Amino acid sequence: MHKPTHIQGVAIEALAKEFGTPLYLYDGGKIVNQIQALQTAFATIPVRIKYAAKALSSLSVLSLIRKAGAELDAVSLEEVKLGLLAGSKASEIMYTPSGVSFEEIQEAVQIGAMINLDSLPLLERFGQTYGNSVPVCIRINPHILAGGNMKISVGHKESKFGISIEHLPQILELAQQYQIPIVGLHLHTGSDILDAEVFLKGGKVLFKAAMHFPNLQFLDFGGGFKVAYSPEDSATDIAELGRIVSGAFQEFCKKFGRKLELWIEPGKFLVSEAGYLVVKATVVKETPSIHFVGVDSGMNHLIRPMMYDAYHEIYNLSNLDGATSSYTVVGYICETDTLASQRQLHTVKEGDFLVIQNAGAYGYTMSSNYNARLRPAEVLVWEGKAYLIRKREQFEDLIRNQEIIQW
Ligand SMILES: *Cc1c(COP(=O)(O)O)cnc(C)c1O
Repeated sequence: MHKPTHIQGVAIEALAKEFGTPLYLYDGGKIVNQIQALQTAFATIPVRIKYAAKALSSLSVLSLIRKAGAELDAVSLEEVKLGLLAGSKASEIMYTPSGVSFEEIQEAVQIGAMINLDSLPLLERFGQTYGNSVPVCIRINPHILAGGNMKISVGHKESKFGISIEHLPQILELAQQYQIPIVGLHLHTGSDILDAEVFLKGGKVLFKAAMHFPNLQFLDFGGGFKVAYSPEDSATDIAELGRIVSGAFQEFCKKFGRKLELWIEPGKFLVSEAGYLVVKATVVKETPSIHFVGVDSGMNHLIRPMMYDAYHEIYNLSNLDGATSSYTVVGYICETDTLASQRQLHTVKEGDFLVIQNAGAYGYTMSSNYNARLRPAEVLVWEGKAYLIRKREQFEDLIRNQEIIQW
């Protein structure tokens, strides 16, 4: 894997010195390239890219993604509001919550987002409240197993997400009873899906169900496109995916008798590789069995290694050649928070900058204040210029909402 020292000509080391560590760094050019790759792959059909904001929802990232022609998929009202602040129109936002109260749905309707419903009780409330006046999308659970591991597979039978495809008759009954304009069918079956065939498997479930919905305007195939996390790892071949899925979609539209839009919801695919977490080695210590490098960050800033056993490539930015040895890179949190285990790194000295790759997706957005640590700053590089898009947290941020009662 490429180990960059610069992003669009800007030295990473200079940024680490200027803004301090730990630091989340984003390459805006890479994000835009990923969007363009999808636009090209699906160029033969009307496609809408609904970026899954939960992967990285910093306002300046959302606004860059919008500028590049992608719209939004939001899973909370707060994400909807971030999208609006970043310049999205409400009508461009798909709202795909899971298990929320009807009050949240009503607020999202008021805002004007497209609502994606994932239970029969909500669909019934929706029908009772809005009748035929508000178009809606239905999240289908197709009962297929897809995705890299069980924690990130969400379209199987035991998953909480969506309305079971086996409940299609009940969906149709409610739609008929309340004259609900169902304009979209959606599925999202998991993350780290490699093959076009798996998308197509879900797609076929939607194609078949779609024949029962005369008001349809779009089918939404969700996200989950895989990116490579290590040199041996593979990524979804987006050009091939586009070709295969577009072909099948065109065929379906012929059968359906009308041209529909295809929506997709990439999260990780747009932002993962664009993000770097730059940390500083604070301690190098040898135990009888392991050579540890402790850094000024941890699972509070990047939880994926501990939460998903995720592999993140890491390199020593301060020492790019010469002797290597096997290191285990650990965080400063009082928990086992291994960021990288037994990796060959060029000799690490105290004070060296290490760069953790693929940190753009589910990095900052899953960060916390655990151990009362502060979140890093975020810097985005765009057209050769570095922008501080979020300040490092200060101690004041930790105590802002607290009331100190001295008992
Ligand atoms: C998380 C999510 C996505 C994006 O998943 P990635 O694996 O990041 O591509 C898309 N759609 C929905 C509904 C999601 O919840």
